Parts: sequence; structure tokens; C-alpha cells
Amino acid sequence: HMEIERHEYDVVVIGAGGAGLRAAIEARQQGKRTAIVCKSLFGKAHTVMAEGGAAAAMGNVNSDDNWMVHFRDTMRGGKFLNNWRMAELHAKEAPDRVWELEAWGALFDRTKDGRISQRNFGGHEYPRLAHVGDRTGLEMIRTLQQRVVALQQEDEKLHGDPEAYIKVFQECTVTRLLKTGDKAAGGAGKAGGVISGAFGYWRENGKFILFDAPAVVLATGGIGKSYVVTSNSWEYTGDGHALALLAGAKLINMEFIQFHPTGMVWPPSVRGILVTESVRGDGGVLRNSEGRRFMFDYIPDVFKDKYATTEEEGDRWYTDQANNRRPPELLPRDEVARAINSEVKAGRGSPQGGVYLDVSTRLPAAEIIRRLPSMHHQFKELADVDITAEPMQVGPTCHYIMGGVEVDADTGAASVPGLFAAGEVSGGMHGSNRLGGNSLSDLLVFGRRAGAGAAAYVDALKARPAVSEESVTAARAEATAPLERGGENPYEVHHELQRTMNDLVGIIRKAEEITEALESVGKLKERAKAVGAPGGRIYNPGWHLALDLRNMLLVSECVARAALLREESRGGHTRDDFPDMSPTWRRKLLVCGASPDGSEVTVEEKTQPAMRDDLIRLFDRAELKKYITEEELVDFDALVK
Ligand code: FAD
Repeated sequence: HMEIERHEYDVVVIGAGGAGLRAAIEARQQGKRTAIVCKSLFGKAHTVMAEGGAAAAMGNVNSDDNWMVHFRDTMRGGKFLNNWRMAELHAKEAPDRVWELEAWGALFDRTKDGRISQRNFGGHEYPRLAHVGDRTGLEMIRTLQQRVVALQQEDEKLHGDPEAYIKVFQECTVTRLLKTGDKAAGGAGKAGGVISGAFGYWRENGKFILFDAPAVVLATGGIGKSYVVTSNSWEYTGDGHALALLAGAKLINMEFIQFHPTGMVWPPSVRGILVTESVRGDGGVLRNSEGRRFMFDYIPDVFKDKYATTEEEGDRWYTDQANNRRPPELLPRDEVARAINSEVKAGRGSPQGGVYLDVSTRLPAAEIIRRLPSMHHQFKELADVDITAEPMQVGPTCHYIMGGVEVDADTGAASVPGLFAAGEVSGGMHGSNRLGGNSLSDLLVFGRRAGAGAAAYVDALKARPAVSEESVTAARAEATAPLERGGENPYEVHHELQRTMNDLVGIIRKAEEITEALESVGKLKERAKAVGAPGGRIYNPGWHLALDLRNMLLVSECVARAALLREESRGGHTRDDFPDMSPTWRRKLLVCGASPDGSEVTVEEKTQPAMRDDLIRLFDRAELKKYITEEELVDFDALVK
């Protein structure tokens, strides 16, 4: 393979969002030679788009906050399906990770007495999101990149080469993870084997690139581009999810997708673009076409005692949280998205098929511009709407996948030796539904842990696994295949997939529709085999999409298969035909696997490990009763007796 550019590293991090950067920094700090590979430009990842903030129980605005309250909120938000060990580590370590960012040069908004300010967000009992206006992700990425540069400057001094220990490969897409004992990456590989590297191509010139590395950290983010209406941008095609599956790792919780309640609905060109939850956190309210604040009609039983029942109480909460309950606009996202969906379906929607989100009558114009500068700009520029003077029209948009690579909570290790995952591509932490703000903190906590996990794995190796020529040949053949055939148009297959997922495995699901979706995905999978992208390897977006299709199809199949099996409604999975949440289903995880060529996807049930005693004791019986089975309740009673 003379023509393939080749590099040797200890750790290859795929993805340069918050999780990838934090992992890479950690691996480098532990002395590992580290590559950061990213599909888009360095500095452009979803993390940059994050608006609201990073959740961390620092207790700066309300001193009653602490890790236990955050842990409880996270478990409630995820409807108790979360990997509780991850939720525990996350709640305990998030404040330190936010502090660390400040030590590296980030500057968060301040309270009057000079501490890091924290804002309210859905599902968080106390103001908890550390933020920088509504541009928190930008500051986070700026800081992490600055930290990478600082480390490179150190390396320049020490080794005379700034890229000796950490190097960025931007606009470079990984298409296969390589393993030892993996006969043919594209064919029937032998089971077993360990990670030996990664294979990809440069977007600009289509040339191939190969990384020899014993450890790979996946930090590729989400899958939103499998849906038509999404807040996600072009590169979120579920690559990391698919790479893991094809390498023999498992995905969990794939049926749980978060539809953010407030995406733009108008004009069509911007449909799906996110309207941050901070609009509601800072006082914005939702109304239907009749002017009614309809969220008061949708407070579910499990949350009844935590939310205001009158507008007056809800409004008082913004200034006096000790004596009032929060307004229902701040329910977890799944609840709000379903409520909006129901209002629109009942004919009480806005002219363009959303509902109204109004902050203009709630805050002075100057305050809106100060707190929500990006939203003000976004609506002015894209929709010619002045949010200081009129309401926005908003509706649900595919935003985040709770499901992802099944990992060890402490180290981020996947089941394949040498493979690690962190951030949105990993699963477990958020259970069936993620609370806003819990992703940015997740990236920092588990990015660091995965970087450390990968470094420790490399340290423990006796010998470096070698990349086999066969696996490279197979990866190369798979990548060039679309260039060598005419036939199906990748854009058409993609669009049909997006429509299928949006219409049949969207916010409200039922067995017949999911079954129909699976049939359709099966046919699209066949068609994708014939997808062609003539025009050569130099900057050929049709070719890139043809390669991404494999990933989106695989991930969509996992989502649909798991959604069909889970006969209950919980968090980001709502079954019209099984509207209740079932304590028995809470004990089950659905685990997806695939054959090495992706032709077969399997889903197996696995029992969710019982929560550790000291953690379950953080809840009271009345609350647990809503979630757990009778027999678990007996155990709980014995425990607290
Ligand atoms: P990302 O930041 O998504 O980065 C993924 C990286 O992987 C990119 O560099 C990409 O180029 C690279 N990549 C992907 N595939 C490949 C491949 N095949 N080869 C090479 N590189 C690849 N969460 C919060 O907690 N608070 C918020 O306020 C918030 N606001 C949000 C606003 C918007 C508009 C969106 C879309 C999301 C928001 N989220 C928020 C969610 C959060 O931003 C994301 O979940 C999080 O940033 C994901 O981070 P990550 O590091 O896992 O991946």
C-alpha cells in the first residue's frame, strides 16, 4: 500500500468536540503520542454549537446544590435507566472539570459576588449550568484548543517539534477501525482481536490515511442526520456508532432519541435549527394558537409535586425559588416535546406548524439581548423575527442520541480491547433522556476518563498489535467501491432514509410503523450497495455521503430494532401502543451488535445492574415506587430498615 499515508501513534482520538479534545489532552498529559482526527475543520464540532451551558453542582447560586441532588436529577431525567455509576461519577466530577477549564483560561459568566454563575435548566432542581451567555460551547472548545496549543508549545521546547506528542488531522474522515485477527474488514472477520489502528481519507483530495495505534478513542458525536428535521449539522452521521459496531463492540439504549422541544420551524431552509432551552430557563413561555400556556396541562404524575400548578406560582419561582415550584415549561425535554407535538396535532399550533415561544413579553429588550445574543441574532438573520418584540415559532427537532457505545463507566473502555468511547457516541450515562447541560459536563468528565483509560491500556500492553495488510486492503476496497460504479444516487437514498426515520421512528412510535420502517431500511440497505459517486476522489461530496450512508443505515436499523422491542414508553422512546412506563422494562437494556460487514444487526436483552445501596438510599420510597418493581421495592425496604 505504497500510496497510503501512514502514521504511528499510541492513542488516536476520532473527533475534536469536547469529548475528543479532553480525551486527547489527557492522553498527551499521560505521555502518550496522540492524534486527533476530525471530519470537519478543527474547531467546528457540535460542542461549539452548545448554547445553554455545562451542568455542574457547584452550588454557587443556590448553596443547597451538591452532587447528590445532581445525581438524583440525572436519574430522574433518564427515568432511572441510566448507568448509575456514570451518573455518579458525572455528578461528582463535573465541578472539578469546570474549574479546570477556568484554570486553562475559560471565563464563565459571573454572579454578583464574582463566582461562576449558574442558570436554570429543565429537570435541574437548582440553577446549575455554568455558562458564557448563550455561547458556552464556543468558549469550551476555544479553551480546550488553547490547552492543546499550550501542550504543543511545551513539546516544542522539550523535543523541538510542537507536534511530537499531539497532532491534529482535520478534514480527515475515518471509515474503518482496524483489528488484529480481523481477516477482512469488509468481510467475515474472525471474532476476537484487538484494535490495531484506523483507516480513513482526506476530504479535500480523497487520499487514504492509515493510523497504526493500539488504542482508539471514539468521540464522534451524534446521529441526527438520519432524520430530516434535526439540530445536527452535516457531519453527524453516526460514524462512531457504526465504527464501533463493525469492530464488534456493542451499542446500548439506541431506542432513546431526544427530540429537542424547540427547533425553528420557519422558514423551511432553517427548519430544525436549535432554539436554546435557555430561552425558557430565563423566563420564556410556551403558548398555543389560543394563547394558552398549555404546559400546565401536561405535567406527568411522576413530576406533579415538583412543578407549579398555576401561572402565578410559576412566575414567582423566577425570583423566589425557595417558596415556589418551577414552571412546567422547564419539565425534561421529552415531556415538553410530546406536549408540543400533541398541541399541534390537536390543531392548536402556529401557522407554520409549531407553537409560540415568547420571551418578548417576559423580559426587557436589553435583557434579552444581553442574555440571549445568539438567539436574537439567529432569528433576526434567518427568519426576520425580532425576539425582543414578538414570539418565536418552535417545534420538536431531532437533537441528541442517548444511545451509544456500551462502555465501562470508569475507563470508557468498550468491549473490544483497545477501543474507548466518550461523549455523545457513548451510551448509558443519560439513560432514556438527557437533561440539558448534562452533555457538556459529560464530555469533560468522560473525555478525561477515556483518555486516561486509553493511556493505561497502552501502558499495560506487552507488544504493539500490528496492522494486517488484509485489513487495509479490505478497508480500501470498501472505500473506493462507490467511485467504481454508477447507479443509485446517494442523496436520494439518504433523503428516503431521513423521511423514513422522521415519519416512522420519530417522536411517537407504534409497532406497525416501526416494522414498516425496518422493511424500508432493509431495502435502502440493498440500494446503498449500488450507490455510485462518479467524479473521482478529489473533493467529491457525493462519495463522502455514499460512505456515510453505511453508518446512517446501520444506526437507523439499531434505533428501529430496539424501538420495536421496547414495549413501553420512557424518556426519548414513546410508544403509542404501549403508553405506560414499565418497571420490568426498566431492568432491561437492549444491546445492539452487528456482523463485521454490517449486513446483520442483532438486539439482545440484558439485565440492568441494580443500583449500589448507598446510591439508591438517596431516593425516598414514594419516588422509587414510581419506577422500580415490587421485588426491588422489597429489597429497598430491607435495606433501609
Ligand atoms: P461533537 O462535538 O459532536 O464532535 C464530534 C467530532 O467528531 C467532530 O469533530 C466531527 O468532525 C468528528 N467526527 C465525526 N465523525 C467522524 C469520522 N468518521 N472521522 C473523523 N472525525 C469524525 N449540550 C449541553 O450540555 N448544553 C448545551 O447547551 C447544548 N446545546 C446544544 C446546541 C446544539 C445546537 C446542539 C446540536 C447540541 C447541543 N448540546 C448541548 C449537545 C452537545 O453539544 C453535544 O451532545 C456534544 O457537544 C457532543 O460532543 P462530542 O464531543 O461527543 O462530539
